[in-house]
Amino acid sequence: MPNLLGLAPDALAALFADMGEKPFRATQVLRWMHHFGVADFAAMTDLAKPLREKLKATAEITPPVLISDQASGDGTRKFLFAAGNGNAVETVFIPETERGTLCVSTQAGCALDCAFCATGKQGFNRNLSAAEIIGQLWQANKALGRDPQNGNSGEARVISNVVLMGMGEPLANLENVIAALRLMLDDNAYGLSRRRVTVSTSGILPAMEVLAAACPVALAVSLHAPTDALRDTLVPINRKYPLADLMAACRRYLESAPRDFITFEYVLLEGVNDRPEDARALIALVRTIPCKFNLIPFNPFPGSPYRRPARERIRRFAETLLAAGIITTIRKTRGDDIDAACGQLAGQVRDKTRRVAERQAVPILLEEVS
Ligand code: SAH
Ligand code: SF4
Repeated sequence: MPNLLGLAPDALAALFADMGEKPFRATQVLRWMHHFGVADFAAMTDLAKPLREKLKATAEITPPVLISDQASGDGTRKFLFAAGNGNAVETVFIPETERGTLCVSTQAGCALDCAFCATGKQGFNRNLSAAEIIGQLWQANKALGRDPQNGNSGEARVISNVVLMGMGEPLANLENVIAALRLMLDDNAYGLSRRRVTVSTSGILPAMEVLAAACPVALAVSLHAPTDALRDTLVPINRKYPLADLMAACRRYLESAPRDFITFEYVLLEGVNDRPEDARALIALVRTIPCKFNLIPFNPFPGSPYRRPARERIRRFAETLLAAGIITTIRKTRGDDIDAACGQLAGQVRDKTRRVAERQAVPILLEEVS
């Protein structure tokens, strides 16, 4: 049975066409599911009863199962969702004065194995389905108490920004991510502007091209090193898609991007990539690309060989970039009292050998990223 929750608007319309139903019926169902958070066909009162029964017999609306919901003293919320076979993924809501950002996962685990990332260290379990990705938004809206009568259009909107920066590499699960993005952007679903939806990638270049053509949203690129020699060791996908190609791909992405800059994420690792000469090399590397930098002080996890630099060293790195005219922010830590800060999330995800349940690194974002 198809799970209607994860069907992009055009796919839902196609399904209704196959059933001999008019396109506006698909729109009604879309609104029931995503505007009003309804998962029960019987409650869709403006559909004729026979259609409701037909849908009940042939389709389902199944959101991911919420396992836990923790609130931090600073308002940050952390949701844990079952992903089957003992796996789980996490979603974090970060409220700020002017916005509320939901940090969404796209895979259980990650195959790309970046040296400083706990998710990568666990290995890859599986891609999340489109329903599991958009379902994080669906469930968070419910848990955050959005007033269903206001749909997503009034001031009552709680989640104003979405960042695909949780567990996994979004561009390694492109088809499902694009379906979920289309729902985030659709006025009959979540109605978010493209500028308020950000995909974070470690740089899978062919997928960046596809995203630019199919569904351009704001882009954050995990840079982490100014040279290929260093990036090869920190972000292994760099061996396949080196920096010169990545920079060219960023420039091309900007031609269709909804924002006129790329956000570069840069995890600061003491003595590894945080030296003054690293900052200077970075400035040279990105000089032809309109960009902002978001520096993420490293969050250690058990067994990680890296350390977070001292505050003063972080400040100096940021100032070097700022002095070169690059807008630079340092990612705030939020929700650390509930282990929801970068590198602190302790999901129940098993690694691919199913031996250990490790701690997760899901980053918390600063407003500047989204
Ligand atoms: N796979 C995507 C998105 C998820 S990771 C990507 O790599 O961009 C989101 C961000 O968290 C990335 O910039 C990543 O480098 C960062 N990150 C991973 N582990 C971290 C850690 N231990 N401390 C701080 N940031 C970390
Ligand atoms: Fe995967 Fe991103 Fe972690 Fe790298 S940093 S292992 S791409 S989740």
